[in-house]
Amino acid sequence: MSDLALLTKTALVPTCADCGAPRFSTKPKKTPYCRACVRAHNARSPSRRAKASASMKARLADPHVRAEHIERAAEGLRLRIREDPAFAERRRAIGRRTGLLKRGMAQHPAGSPLRLANGRKSAATKLAWCPPEYRDEYRRLIKRQNIPAAEARPMIEDMIAADARRYAETGVLPQSARIEEAGA
Ligand SMILES: [Zn+2]
Repeated sequence: MSDLALLTKTALVPTCADCGAPRFSTKPKKTPYCRACVRAHNARSPSRRAKASASMKARLADPHVRAEHIERAAEGLRLRIREDPAFAERRRAIGRRTGLLKRGMAQHPAGSPLRLANGRKSAATKLAWCPPEYRDEYRRLIKRQNIPAAEARPMIEDMIAADARRYAETGVLPQSARIEEAGA
């Protein structure tokens, strides 16, 4: 018999109530489990879970802590998506499946406040390159004239450059004249 097994068997050293590993620390024991087992036990205990959940909620009630937590979690997710292609593909598949259920569409039909807000947010991101006064023209090119976005963008950018040149020469803002025309 090894020294370790002998020591344990003669009960000179306390052991974990779960895995039986000897616990050599002389600190007073708060739990009958070793460090490796105690986490699993806490995770299964309803009262421990309630306590952990309450303290987490209290911590996240602070908007700064909450914002930091969200940012850290998002950064972790971005990192994993970058470095683990299988994980990224699994997430894409789940997203596609969820999208096909169209649950959000039923709950929030077109024109509902949430959809309008999301539309504005997505336009702000996708059209960040395009000054607001040129967005109607950009949308007209794409929707009415069926010009692909990849071609419409350089057309708008040319227009912006031409307007800037004309403004430098004449002091008149062509885009504001154009908006007045459209409104008349
Ligand atoms: Zn253990």
